[in-house]
Amino acid sequence: MTKITNIKAREILDSRGHPTIEVEMYTKNNMARASVPSGASTGSHEAFELRDHKKRYNGLGVQNVVRNVEKKIFPLLKGHDCTKQRTIDQIMINADKTDNKAKFGANAILAVSLANAKLAALEKQQPLFQHINNLFSNKVKPKMPLAHFNVINGGRHADNKLSFQEFMIVPQLRTFKENLRMASEVYHMLKKDLHKKFGKGATNIGDEGGFAPVKFHKTVEAVRMLQKAIKNSGYKDKVKIALDSAASTCLTKGKYHIDRKKLTKDKLLAYYTELVRRYPSIVSIEDPFDQEDFLSFAALTKKLKIQIVGDDLTVSNVDRIEEAIREKSCNCLLLKVNQIGTLTEALDAANLAYDNNWKVMVSHRSGETTDDFIADLAVGIAAQIKAGAPCRGERLAKYNQLLRIEEILHSKSF
Ligand code: PEP
Ligand code: MG
Repeated sequence: MTKITNIKAREILDSRGHPTIEVEMYTKNNMARASVPSGASTGSHEAFELRDHKKRYNGLGVQNVVRNVEKKIFPLLKGHDCTKQRTIDQIMINADKTDNKAKFGANAILAVSLANAKLAALEKQQPLFQHINNLFSNKVKPKMPLAHFNVINGGRHADNKLSFQEFMIVPQLRTFKENLRMASEVYHMLKKDLHKKFGKGATNIGDEGGFAPVKFHKTVEAVRMLQKAIKNSGYKDKVKIALDSAASTCLTKGKYHIDRKKLTKDKLLAYYTELVRRYPSIVSIEDPFDQEDFLSFAALTKKLKIQIVGDDLTVSNVDRIEEAIREKSCNCLLLKVNQIGTLTEALDAANLAYDNNWKVMVSHRSGETTDDFIADLAVGIAAQIKAGAPCRGERLAKYNQLLRIEEILHSKSF
């Protein structure tokens, strides 16, 4: 009964209105559906996102990806057991034959890999997070994630002047339900504060549902507004702050363009040091330097003793993670399934991170769908999560799924 009988694919649109792929995968008795997100500040070492490059959809169509799933991948997987995730993923990797999944497209392979995991969970009559936990070689127990809510958007995610990409709030209460409530309350307090201070244009929102005020020029202004909204909501000390600089996107001709200044890497390190000294509620910084600069990451990790997250640096790829481990570049892995292209490889990446005492933060992409897979992934591997603001359907799909999972985890029968 667990044999794959059919795979159907189609082109749908993501949260930015660009095409992406959705897959439906069948056994005799069940069907599972999955779709694939897409980044804007994409690391140069990520797996290959295949596009049509034809006139339709300004070149971004994925009709060839749809064809690859139905005509090339399905014949390879037909009749195979969907509960053998590693085998399914390996068959696709072997047939693709490229290092970065350029032949079939990482988007084609990932859509099938995720749909396959959902299908296997249905066949086993298990919640998806439990099935993922069983696949994970690290023996953690399923756990609700510490969530990072991106409430101010800058960089490539917004049409404003903020250099850094993400300004996140991190509520610290014990249940996810309470943390989501606090995040929502701070988000709406921030909306009021921004409107009061800056008037029109201050509460427009960016790609991940956070506010994208056009009148901010400086990073510290955003951090200060966050602190204020947290305090005004009555949550001082209960809600921390995290940043994603996405620093590769700030680098031009060897200098980081931050807040209208051109900084060397040493100056940028000094800048972070001062920022965290002045705002000690900052507990995590992602991609503080360029994706090739393992050593500056290491210098900052050593100096600040807070969470330093590798995203474009490590791209959920075990070879890059091994290098970051050797260089002591960071202490947390950002895990994006479409950076690497299969669930099995994403789980191997998380396992390697845990084996080296890193934390793991499961992440959405700036271009998302309403697929909630990453909520179950975060719980299944006991990771942190970031999935954008507590606003917009494609972001809430993940957070609302976490509310459902928390009920299961807290029920006596589990
Ligand atoms: C990120 O950089 O962490 C992110 C989610 O953005 P994108 O999906 O644009 O890479
Ligand atoms: Mg990032």
